[in-house]
Amino acid sequence: MKKVHNFSAGPGILPAEVMKQASEACINFNDLNLSLLEISHRSKDFEAVMDEARNTIRELFGVNEDYSVLYLGGGASLQFGMIPYNLLRSNGKAAYLNTGVWATKAIKEAKMLGDTVVVASSEDKNFNYIPKNYTIPADADYFHLTSNNTIYGTQIKQFPNSPVPMVCDMSSDIFSRKVDGNKFGMIYAGAQKNMGPAGTTMVMIHKDLVGKSDRKKLSMMDYAVHIKGESMYNTPPVFPIYVTLLTLRWLKKNGGVQWIEKVNQEKADLLYNEIDRNSLFYGTAEKEDRSTMNICFLLHKTELEPEFDKLWKEANISGIRGHRDVGGYRASTYNAMPIESVKALVEVMQAFEKKFA
Ligand SMILES: *Cc1c(COP(=O)(O)O)cnc(C)c1O
Repeated sequence: MKKVHNFSAGPGILPAEVMKQASEACINFNDLNLSLLEISHRSKDFEAVMDEARNTIRELFGVNEDYSVLYLGGGASLQFGMIPYNLLRSNGKAAYLNTGVWATKAIKEAKMLGDTVVVASSEDKNFNYIPKNYTIPADADYFHLTSNNTIYGTQIKQFPNSPVPMVCDMSSDIFSRKVDGNKFGMIYAGAQKNMGPAGTTMVMIHKDLVGKSDRKKLSMMDYAVHIKGESMYNTPPVFPIYVTLLTLRWLKKNGGVQWIEKVNQEKADLLYNEIDRNSLFYGTAEKEDRSTMNICFLLHKTELEPEFDKLWKEANISGIRGHRDVGGYRASTYNAMPIESVKALVEVMQAFEKKFA
């Protein structure tokens, strides 16, 4: 197989050894001579997977058993609704920081379920920065924020000190850097950006937040029901959970979050330095808010795009076209991306400059 440098924004790159282990489990899981895809989720072999997958999240976030970990279906987008459904009381209030399309979608769902305030927004500049110096209302039931804005390439570098529980969408930068889980009431992430394949969403929630809202709840929408069922109230997405576990094992084996934070910073520095140095390109996000996961950049002369596209395709680079809301290019440098792939992109940018500057 030809080596492709995969900069896809999501579903994103996974470690090659994880892919190999996952494919083996499809044929013969744990030497059972059965596929992982055809055994009961209540078998002891899968229960061990679920236990380890839940415990590893707590371990990597440095939290204790006061936090429950769930692997649910429905994507991060279902959480946009489940959060206010479970956490927003009928006479209460929800507070949100608006930093992009995903946050906007979360706000839309909350507004349908109760009083929702947006404490700050960066919509005025097409979400190219993270708002600072806003006030979080002390009477809110929770404060929702998005740690990394996948589409615009901005990232919260310093989380605020919130007077109310913080709920954070970490879909595109979970375990990319050291984060103390104890600062949050709830953290959630669709697996398919930085942690595993599409099909499951990790939810880590503190027990104090469960059962807060007074509404009558549908079982599948109720965190308490899923917690009581130990994330197996219904058949969980077994394969995405297993591959997520393999990816978390890979992360731990290589040195954990501390290791990957350094690697991710190196990769991001390499590419941002080239964007800033190269006369043909410029970055779109404010420098102090630049994401280490999604690196957005444009050509000064957009008419040169077909020429640049030809060069990077020839170099076996894949997935760097930007989101339609920003245009240009977006290189997603998730945990599993080796620095060699970033070097390959930088070399193409340099060759392009030599030819067209
Ligand atoms: C991709 C993404 C989502 C949406 O995830 P789904 O699993 O497709 O619902 C939500 N938030 C962020 C930050 C994302 O990057």
